[in-house]
Amino acid sequence: MNLHEYQGKELFARYGLPVLPGQVAGTPEEAREIAAQLGGLVVIKAQVQVGGRGKAGGVKLAHTPDEAFEKARDILALTIKGLPVRKVLVAQAADIAKEYYLSIVMDREKKLPLIMLSAEGGVDIEEVARVAPEKILKQHIPLEGLRPYAARALMMQVFSDFAQAQQAASILLKLYTVFMDGDCSLAEINPLAVTPEGKVIALDAKVVLDDNADFRHRDWDEHWRDPADESQWSRLAREKGLSYVKLDGDIGCVVNGAGLAMATMDLIKHYGGEPANFLDIGGSSNPEKVTAALKIITNDGHVRAILFNIFGGITRCDDVANGIVASLKESPLPVPLVIRLTGTNEEKAREILSSHGLGATTSMDEAVQMVIARAQEVTA
Ligand code: GDP
Ligand code: MN
Repeated sequence: MNLHEYQGKELFARYGLPVLPGQVAGTPEEAREIAAQLGGLVVIKAQVQVGGRGKAGGVKLAHTPDEAFEKARDILALTIKGLPVRKVLVAQAADIAKEYYLSIVMDREKKLPLIMLSAEGGVDIEEVARVAPEKILKQHIPLEGLRPYAARALMMQVFSDFAQAQQAASILLKLYTVFMDGDCSLAEINPLAVTPEGKVIALDAKVVLDDNADFRHRDWDEHWRDPADESQWSRLAREKGLSYVKLDGDIGCVVNGAGLAMATMDLIKHYGGEPANFLDIGGSSNPEKVTAALKIITNDGHVRAILFNIFGGITRCDDVANGIVASLKESPLPVPLVIRLTGTNEEKAREILSSHGLGATTSMDEAVQMVIARAQEVTA
């Protein structure tokens, strides 16, 4: 789950991280009102979950409430990287003397959180990472945790002013607590800004909760999950307990088990095809899940053929076959379907399918080659 900036800042504030006051607005009128309440210079910021809002015209300063109205109206009319802007954050604006970059990400290879820190923060950080990666300091946080002295020592490498280094160290320690308490895969502040008076503040917040820890953060769900941020289809997938990732190819895959799903995608590539998605229906053969899976896949207009790949272990092939049949009765497929199943109750499954005019192979190679051929026929 990704948090919006205003939500990330709300979380930051709970942990005592320095953020400037602000509120979210859905209309230019609300933006004007918030700006009037805040008084002085405000910044209007598009609340969409992509980076690069600044460069896309999604971050603007406003000197008066009326200007806040105008800027909010302009930003609310934008679509940034395919996402329509539905809300803006109206916050007290800071004077910026310098912009730093600070984040903690989970390094899956080392299995440790990794701090990334740079004196070259701001909207060009991706460019810095590309052309001058040595300007981004990286340091793992050991299992024992992050000690205050270690945080200070790190900040002293980047901040020349001692008082600022101390503020930044305190921010890092709090950010680490956010990261750990929130089971985050990312907690990022860019820019971590220094004001002309030498105060260090978090001017942006990007927080990603590892969905595997969802169950520990029901409150995040209630408080922060916004159905409008999710496409109808990823919502359906989440509600039905399917793991679904959309890809760019034209061969839809429905598979039981993540490992088999990966292997299926590999094999499709191997035979020159392109998978349209990763979809794991898990160990379930529940027709409802099968129907949801097929709905999600066929909604992707690029899909030209669908491959069902089931390895029956605990999952019984006949259950899956019943699921497929029930699902097709409810909504016939607009594209060809190739079924491969093997394992528990395979024979029964084959009978069920053939009594409904469907065939199935046992060989994965054969099924994959077949589905690629069917997709090409459709294209031709
Ligand atoms: P992003 O481009 O999506 O990461 O959006 P940011 O929130 O990081 O804003 C982009 C840039 O806008 C920052 O790097 C700042 O230079 C500028 N900016 C953001 N907030 C303020 C502010 O309060 N005051 C000033 N002067 N500039 C700001
Ligand atoms: Mn930013």
